[in-house]
Amino acid sequence: MANITVCARFRPLTSKERRDRGDSVCVERIDDEAFTLKDEKEGEMKFSFDKVFYDDSRQDDVYSFLARPIVRDVVNAINGTIITYGQTGAGKTYSMEGPSILECDDAKKGLLARVVDGVFREITSADSIKYIIKLSMVEIYMEKVRDLLDLSKDHIQIKETKSQGILLPEVTELSLSDTADALRSLSSGICNRAVGETQMNVASSRSHCIYIFSVHQESTNQTRTYGKLILVDLAGSEKVEKTGAEGRVLEEAKTINKSLSALGNVVHALTCGPNVKGNHVPYRNSKLTRILQDSLGGNSQMALLCCCSPSPSNVSETLSTLRFGARAK
Ligand code: ADP
Ligand code: MG
Repeated sequence: MANITVCARFRPLTSKERRDRGDSVCVERIDDEAFTLKDEKEGEMKFSFDKVFYDDSRQDDVYSFLARPIVRDVVNAINGTIITYGQTGAGKTYSMEGPSILECDDAKKGLLARVVDGVFREITSADSIKYIIKLSMVEIYMEKVRDLLDLSKDHIQIKETKSQGILLPEVTELSLSDTADALRSLSSGICNRAVGETQMNVASSRSHCIYIFSVHQESTNQTRTYGKLILVDLAGSEKVEKTGAEGRVLEEAKTINKSLSALGNVVHALTCGPNVKGNHVPYRNSKLTRILQDSLGGNSQMALLCCCSPSPSNVSETLSTLRFGARAK
């Protein structure tokens, strides 16, 4: 069976949500693994996940539960993936980056800063092995893969090799010397993303942002292995009104919808285990699942964080996010 951890996170109400609907929320805590969702139309529904993070959860709680085990394993050459899913405004980027990737307040630092710090801690405690850590960052927009560390590379190809698995042969790879260096590199990729999006007039919520850390190790007997740790800040999962949307907005929405359902189908196929048809996992249906192919199945580990608004005004999107998460279990 696939190693998949599925968690839900409810951010605090925003001031806009408070203005619209006061302090009311659509979620009622049962415990750290279950809650009731109240929907005016569909009634009350109980959901349970491996862990539920409520509005009082800390960034470190999220890291400790879903990322730390994956960080420990990547150093042992086991691939891992951490994905944030949810509608725009639900807290995906906050969970990944914190208020900003260069956030100084330790308590607010997101998964990325903690993952980087965790990887460097792991490798310094293993002394007989030499490690090299590299970072690549890409964005998928309209099924095109763009290099966020070099915007001139706007059509990155995906290749698969027998010995090394999935590769992006042309992508920029930066060697990271320590946590501070890693954060600077991440920050420049994130800035590039904003620049590119302004140029193309695209909202960042309409693309998937993928952070790829590769941890190469060379042990004393000269054998080389490497593990990949991929973090994905997905495009917003919200449904676009079919009536209102047209042109590019409609095309964007269809493309995002297609790649998110491709991800859902891959994860579902993995959780269902081998089936009579030889367990075909449909990785090839999107660039997203193709890039993640060797970091989702096999003995790799995956964590999915379903980010949700607690406001009754967003309950139908929240419901659809939770159903996506439930299907991954
Ligand atoms: P998304 O990336 O899913 O579109 P964001 O991460 O940008 O959403 O979050 C939307 C807003 O909510 C931001 O202003 C962010 O700072 C705030 N926010 C999200 N999650 C939290 C949280 N756990 N605690 C405090 N503020 C949060
Ligand atoms: Mg975001």
